[in-house]
Amino acid sequence: MKWTVVGFWGGHPEIGEATSSYLLEEGDFRLLVDCGSGVLAQLPKYCELSKLNAVILSHYHHDHVADIGVLQYAKHVEKYIGTPSGTLPIYGHQLEPDKFQSLTYEEATVGVPYRIDESLQMGPFQIDFLQTVHPAPCAAMRFTSGGKTIVYTADTSFIPELIPFAKDADLLVAECSLYKETDGKPMGHLNSLDVGRLAEEAHVKECLLTHLPHYGDHENLLKEAATVYKGKLALAKSGWSWGSK
Ligand SMILES: [Zn+2]
Repeated sequence: MKWTVVGFWGGHPEIGEATSSYLLEEGDFRLLVDCGSGVLAQLPKYCELSKLNAVILSHYHHDHVADIGVLQYAKHVEKYIGTPSGTLPIYGHQLEPDKFQSLTYEEATVGVPYRIDESLQMGPFQIDFLQTVHPAPCAAMRFTSGGKTIVYTADTSFIPELIPFAKDADLLVAECSLYKETDGKPMGHLNSLDVGRLAEEAHVKECLLTHLPHYGDHENLLKEAATVYKGKLALAKSGWSWGSK
């Protein structure tokens, strides 16, 4: 599996970048995980839109879904310029039915439900879910394929259930919205020490800090997480990638 950071900002994008979105590839299968603000302008650096096989969404906060609307327009336009590439499935949970319904748009995209309590088989991936604790219903995801495992926390405060869920992952992609002095619980986010604890207790091989804040020095997030987690840590940036397809 190859994991590429398309966008990594929390809340809103900075100049020329995007909020949460990742490209997950195995062989010829290309899955976009979340589709935040600015993604349509970044994605072509890594993958043509027409080559995407599917999109999956963790939850319906704007910084994870803002570009779904323009993605639908882009797919719709394909038809008029003579390059239709088929209806794109967008997987989402149905805990907010109106949001789920908006994933279907004419012939461009179709919403496909996943259940958080069931495994999903999609192309080469087995995807397992864990409902997180966040102001909106949100699913962390565990991707398994080709003997490798990637766990994506999506947005969440620290809950002990994350530890078995992330157990022995080859890569943990952890949201790290806050520095150590801020308790993430009231906001439903992880701080740097939460991420360090999760990575350490789950014995993951490598941990990527993402969903980064718009204040402070991100290097401090790394230093703070490293006081707890002794494995390999990295800070997300546009185009950062891990693994191979
Ligand atoms: Zn959120």
